[in-house]
Amino acid sequence: MLKIESFVFNPFSENTYIIYDDTRECVIIDPGCSTPGEEDQLFGFIDSHQLKPILAINTHGHVDHTVGNKAVKQRYGIKVAAHADIQKDLIRSRRQAPYFGMIWKNEDEMPDVFLEDDEVIHVGNSTLEVLCTPGHAQGSISLYAVMEGWVFTGDALFCRSIGRTDFTGGDYETLCESIRSRLFTLPDDTTVFSGHGECTTIGDEKDFNYYVAM
Ligand SMILES: [Zn+2]
Ligand SMILES: [Zn+2]
Repeated sequence: MLKIESFVFNPFSENTYIIYDDTRECVIIDPGCSTPGEEDQLFGFIDSHQLKPILAINTHGHVDHTVGNKAVKQRYGIKVAAHADIQKDLIRSRRQAPYFGMIWKNEDEMPDVFLEDDEVIHVGNSTLEVLCTPGHAQGSISLYAVMEGWVFTGDALFCRSIGRTDFTGGDYETLCESIRSRLFTLPDDTTVFSGHGECTTIGDEKDFNYYVAM
């Protein structure tokens, strides 16, 4: 079974997650570390637990979820995986980062590995299933840890809220359809780990999330 550690990074209070198990393999979801101090926090946890990063994954291409890509690639020699459709957002992120006081180290904006819908990623003895959940951004994915009953939703679904749809590539109807068809079909007791804010469950969001048009 996977264990999880979360960090809140950069001016957007973005959640970066590390998931790992007893094999010590770990995956970094949305590396948002944007300062040497934040990098130290992330690396300090990985190193003190003697974890072996095997991959970083971006749920989408917005700057707050991707600004730390280069740092983790450099430190651990790992690849960054994401849906191919995030590439335009990655190029925009490079331009936006300085406006938010963030240093954009990534030279090559493209993901190293392209993920597709329903693809399965192995982490130690567990798996993550890729669920395409566009609407907040193009190429947005969620990651479903079946055994653990966890889903990482990026900025698609939050506790009692949903992601903004007014950025380039966003669309409210598309987002609601993604949530209804790919997330609200998961078991009610699935824990939702979002890109911002606290965690919730699928059942609670079905009952209390009034932003999702049913
Ligand atoms: Zn976003
Ligand atoms: Zn975000």
